[in-house]
Amino acid sequence: MKKTKRENMRVVVEPDMRYMCNPKEEYVKNICETIKQQITRHADEIGDIYIEWDTLVECEYCGWGWELDGEGIPVCCNKAIEEWEKEICDSTGEECRKVSTEETNY
Ligand SMILES: [Zn+2]
Repeated sequence: MKKTKRENMRVVVEPDMRYMCNPKEEYVKNICETIKQQITRHADEIGDIYIEWDTLVECEYCGWGWELDGEGIPVCCNKAIEEWEKEICDSTGEECRKVSTEETNY
Protein backbone atom coordinates (compact mmCIF):
# COMPACT_ATOMS: atom_id res chain seq x y z
CA MET A 1 0.00 0.00 0.00
CA LYS A 2 1.11 3.52 -0.76
CA LYS A 3 2.57 5.49 2.10
CA THR A 4 3.23 9.23 1.99
CA LYS A 5 6.12 10.69 3.97
CA ARG A 6 6.90 14.33 4.64
CA GLU A 7 10.50 15.33 4.25
CA ASN A 8 12.54 18.51 3.73
CA MET A 9 10.21 20.21 6.19
CA ARG A 10 10.91 23.92 6.40
CA VAL A 11 9.54 27.28 7.44
CA VAL A 12 8.64 29.56 4.57
CA VAL A 13 8.45 33.27 5.35
CA GLU A 14 7.01 35.75 2.88
CA PRO A 15 7.34 39.51 3.32
CA ASP A 16 4.12 41.45 3.79
CA MET A 17 3.51 43.00 0.38
CA ARG A 18 -0.21 43.73 0.75
CA TYR A 19 0.06 47.51 0.51
CA MET A 20 2.87 47.70 -2.00
CA CYS A 21 2.08 48.37 -5.60
CA ASN A 22 4.89 47.30 -7.92
CA PRO A 23 7.78 47.75 -5.43
CA LYS A 24 11.37 47.90 -6.66
CA GLU A 25 13.37 44.66 -6.61
CA GLU A 26 16.08 46.15 -4.39
CA TYR A 27 13.49 47.37 -1.88
CA VAL A 28 11.90 43.93 -1.53
CA LYS A 29 15.34 42.33 -1.25
CA ASN A 30 16.17 44.66 1.65
CA ILE A 31 12.93 43.70 3.42
CA CYS A 32 13.82 40.02 2.97
CA GLU A 33 17.35 40.60 4.31
CA THR A 34 15.90 42.39 7.35
CA ILE A 35 13.47 39.54 8.07
CA LYS A 36 16.33 37.07 7.71
CA GLN A 37 18.41 38.99 10.27
CA GLN A 38 15.47 39.23 12.66
CA ILE A 39 14.78 35.50 12.45
CA THR A 40 18.47 34.69 12.94
CA ARG A 41 18.53 36.93 16.03
CA HIS A 42 15.42 35.48 17.66
CA ALA A 43 15.10 31.84 16.63
CA ASP A 44 17.06 28.71 17.54
CA GLU A 45 17.51 25.48 15.58
CA ILE A 46 18.11 27.27 12.29
CA GLY A 47 19.93 25.16 9.72
CA ASP A 48 20.00 27.74 6.99
CA ILE A 49 18.01 30.74 5.84
CA TYR A 50 18.19 31.80 2.25
CA ILE A 51 16.28 34.19 0.09
CA GLU A 52 14.70 32.67 -3.00
CA TRP A 53 12.84 34.22 -5.92
CA ASP A 54 11.14 33.32 -9.15
CA THR A 55 12.62 34.72 -12.31
CA LEU A 56 10.45 36.28 -15.00
CA VAL A 57 11.97 37.35 -18.29
CA GLU A 58 10.15 40.20 -19.93
CA CYS A 59 10.71 42.77 -22.66
CA GLU A 60 12.20 46.01 -21.32
CA TYR A 61 10.17 48.01 -23.83
CA CYS A 62 6.63 46.63 -23.65
CA GLY A 63 6.71 44.54 -20.47
CA TRP A 64 5.35 41.36 -22.09
CA GLY A 65 6.90 37.99 -21.38
CA TRP A 66 10.06 37.47 -23.44
CA GLU A 67 9.38 35.06 -26.27
CA LEU A 68 11.26 34.28 -29.48
CA ASP A 69 9.94 32.81 -32.70
CA GLY A 70 11.52 29.84 -34.50
CA GLU A 71 14.27 32.04 -35.92
CA GLY A 72 15.15 33.55 -32.55
CA ILE A 73 13.41 36.86 -33.25
CA PRO A 74 11.44 38.52 -30.43
CA VAL A 75 7.67 38.44 -31.00
CA CYS A 76 6.32 41.04 -28.56
CA CYS A 77 6.89 44.49 -30.08
CA ASN A 78 8.62 46.41 -32.85
CA LYS A 79 11.20 47.99 -30.56
CA ALA A 80 12.43 44.55 -29.49
CA ILE A 81 12.56 43.45 -33.12
CA GLU A 82 14.46 46.60 -34.10
CA GLU A 83 16.95 45.97 -31.31
CA TRP A 84 17.38 42.35 -32.47
CA GLU A 85 17.96 43.57 -36.05
CA LYS A 86 20.56 46.05 -34.84
CA GLU A 87 22.37 43.31 -32.89
CA ILE A 88 22.40 41.08 -35.96
CA CYS A 89 23.72 43.95 -38.11
CA ASP A 90 26.38 44.82 -35.54
CA SER A 91 27.52 41.22 -35.13
CA THR A 92 27.58 40.28 -38.83
CA GLY A 93 28.71 43.65 -40.16
CA GLU A 94 26.10 43.31 -42.90
CA GLU A 95 24.03 46.21 -44.06
CA CYS A 96 20.96 46.55 -41.89
CA ARG A 97 17.81 45.01 -43.35
CA LYS A 98 14.92 47.13 -42.15
CA VAL A 99 11.64 45.34 -41.50
CA SER A 100 10.24 47.67 -38.87
CA THR A 101 6.83 49.35 -38.75
CA GLU A 102 7.71 52.23 -41.05
CA GLU A 103 8.09 49.94 -44.04
CA THR A 104 5.49 47.35 -43.15
CA ASN A 105 2.04 48.29 -44.39
CA TYR A 106 -0.77 46.06 -43.21
ZN1 LIG B 1 8.39 44.09 -26.33
